[in-house]
Amino acid sequence: MSVTTEQLIKLSEHISYLKMPTNIGLITICRDDGITELYLIDSGNDETNGARILDFLNTKFTQYRLKAIINTHSHADHCGGNSYLVRKTGCEVWASKGEAYLMEFPDIETQLVWGGTAIHDIRSKYLLAEACRVNRVFNGEEEIAVSCDNGKILLNVISLPGHYVDQTGFLFTDTDGKKIMFAGDVLSGRNSIKKHWIQYLLDETKTKESLEKIQNIKADFYIPGHGDIVDNIEGIAELNLLAILETEDMIIDELKIPKTMEQLLKAVADRSGITLKTSQFCLIGSTLRSYVTGLYESGKISYEILENQMFWKKV
Ligand SMILES: [Zn+2]
Repeated sequence: MSVTTEQLIKLSEHISYLKMPTNIGLITICRDDGITELYLIDSGNDETNGARILDFLNTKFTQYRLKAIINTHSHADHCGGNSYLVRKTGCEVWASKGEAYLMEFPDIETQLVWGGTAIHDIRSKYLLAEACRVNRVFNGEEEIAVSCDNGKILLNVISLPGHYVDQTGFLFTDTDGKKIMFAGDVLSGRNSIKKHWIQYLLDETKTKESLEKIQNIKADFYIPGHGDIVDNIEGIAELNLLAILETEDMIIDELKIPKTMEQLLKAVADRSGITLKTSQFCLIGSTLRSYVTGLYESGKISYEILENQMFWKKV
């Protein structure tokens, strides 16, 4: 399936995004030599996605140079197309320090959700991206100015950890004054939340902090990693937060009767009407362990080891 021009949504003078399963940002700068310089925000899931993006660029631009892929984080559905695009175009890859490590050693991703060396069943393209080298590692929350035909486009790198180790958001200020925020997976679109109420997260406390932080960032458009974009952050940030708080409540309620992690996973899945397959078993299981850590550290639940089993319970 090819990417069509209808999927390219223009947001400001130089900034658009491609409406794909993972939203892909596109910065377009016309140079004096007639070559269009391009930057991508994220690259989709795998080589197939990378090829679809490249086909689209080849159709849309007669002469172009893909300068860099700027990654929000290292999950395979955001950086899986990197290696293909680097091979085909020689573009650079930019990312935060923590995410850069994971892009260079993607096996850590499956080891993390499994809690050891992962079984081959989850070492699929959905969880395991092809390793790629990162050329530019962000120096924390830096501001990068990209000169263009009629001024400068400013890129503010904003640290938004929680969903993943060192996830970053990108706030662009275009030459027309429009501000565009690429949020990565700290934010899920309304349709996406409706489909998957329990969103993957690595650190519940930091996710909540990042959701608070993004609400104070003023922009004309906010592009979540998946789902529909919004021009008002408040409602969507609250919905994301609500999903987290409701999941917290569900866990606390289930832990009125002490449970092991696997018993808790079954209870939460049953209650949410989810039939777990292998990858979901691992991803939601990993997410629940992160929730349990957040609830334990805030004193809402505790544990006890009985007959060599760890039971979690409401305090
Ligand atoms: Zn993600």
